[in-house]
Amino acid sequence: MRCIFPKDPPEVERVPVLGATPALLASLQVMEAVKLVTGIGKPLVGRMLFVNGEEMVFETVEVKRSMECPVCGSL
Ligand SMILES: [Zn+2]
Repeated sequence: MRCIFPKDPPEVERVPVLGATPALLASLQVMEAVKLVTGIGKPLVGRMLFVNGEEMVFETVEVKRSMECPVCGSL
């Protein structure tokens, strides 16, 4: 996460999370785990999934390690 977001985001008022949201994300995580274990499909390696539940939009963006990253840049 630090490669993508080098600084903490500003504090904002917390918005309540609809119970279905963590259930949806948990299901997606299980699907990714199954893909990795079985070797079937294209796992989200090197990509990040953004889920907009309000608009029901799913979007993936490619992510790469940043050499400037304070956490993993020197590895
Ligand atoms: Zn990093």
